[in-house]
Amino acid sequence: MKIAARTVASFHYTLKNEAGEELETSRDSQPTAYLHGSNNIIPGLERALEGHSAGDSLEVEVKPEDGYGLRSPDRIQRVPTKHLIYKGKLRPGMTVQLNTSDGARPVTVVKVGRHSAEIDTNHPLAGQALTFDIEIVDVRPATAEELEHKHAHGPGGHHH
Ligand code: ZN
Repeated sequence: MKIAARTVASFHYTLKNEAGEELETSRDSQPTAYLHGSNNIIPGLERALEGHSAGDSLEVEVKPEDGYGLRSPDRIQRVPTKHLIYKGKLRPGMTVQLNTSDGARPVTVVKVGRHSAEIDTNHPLAGQALTFDIEIVDVRPATAEELEHKHAHGPGGHHH
């Protein structure tokens, strides 16, 4: 079966930045599962995976505009540190979670004050050209429930 709309694909990936440094990998845990055609993963990756089958390996280069977006300089803001979730001592350069009304999201600490911090709300991977080493593990038809929810269920997918 080939990856197309209404299929759920599982894949292992290793993500590298422009310098070739490894940023993330799924290979030490379970493969990631997603519902194709539902914007569950970044657009550049979804496009490259279409038409591939289980057992295929591929290297995908994703430009910022097809990945986590471009960096926008006006997304640096000052917030009370009580809105940040982090372990240990707050330091510039750290990635922490910002509590928002839509849930927690990753931000980068720019400057630390007494009760507040300057944070960069660009996604930590924004503005970076990324390379994904992909191995497709499984492709199956989506269930009616997955199509209704617009995401994959089961191992590597969404849990309720
Ligand atoms: Zn669901």
